[in-house]
Amino acid sequence: VRNQIKLEFISIPENVGLARITIAALASQLDLTLNDLEEIKVATSEAVSNAIIHGYRNKPAGIVKLIGSLYEDSIVIEVIDEGVGIADIPQAMQPAFTTDPERMGLGFVFMQSFMDEVKVESEINNGTRVILTK
Ligand code: ATP
Ligand code: MG
Repeated sequence: VRNQIKLEFISIPENVGLARITIAALASQLDLTLNDLEEIKVATSEAVSNAIIHGYRNKPAGIVKLIGSLYEDSIVIEVIDEGVGIADIPQAMQPAFTTDPERMGLGFVFMQSFMDEVKVESEINNGTRVILTK
C-alpha cells in the first residue's frame, strides 16, 4: 500500500458526495485519465448510495465505512455497512434487478462496467462489503 484512508460517516444522502470527493482526491494520486477518475467517482457513489438506501433502509442511524487503498498502479475501494444484507448476491447484481420499484437497478451495472473488479460479500442482518478495484 502506498496510501490508505478510512472514513466513517452516518447514513444520510449528503455523505454520498463526501465519499465521492474523498475517493476522487485519493485516486488523483494515481496517474489516471479524467475519464477513469469520473468512473471511480460514479462507482463509489453507487456503492455508498446502496449502503444508505438499501443497507440502512434510508435510516440515518447507520454507520458506513469507506476504505480507500492506493497501490502502485491501482486503487481499491471498500464500502462497508452493517445493514440488512443481501439475500442473493448474483441476483442483486443482475442488470435491472431492484427491490425498490422506484429505482432502476443499475448501480451494480455501473460498478461492474466502470471498475476492473467488483466483489460483494454479504450476510443477512449483518451487512454488506463491496470491494471495487481499478
Ligand atoms: P439504482 O442503483 O439504479 O438506483 P438499485 O440500487 O436498486 O437501483 P443496484 O444498485 O444494482 O440497484 O442494487 C440492486 C439491489 O441490490 C438493490 O435493489 C438491493 O436490493 C440490493 N442491494 C444493493 N446494495 C445493498 C446493500 N448495501 N445492502 C442491502 N441490499 C443491497
Ligand atoms: Mg443502487
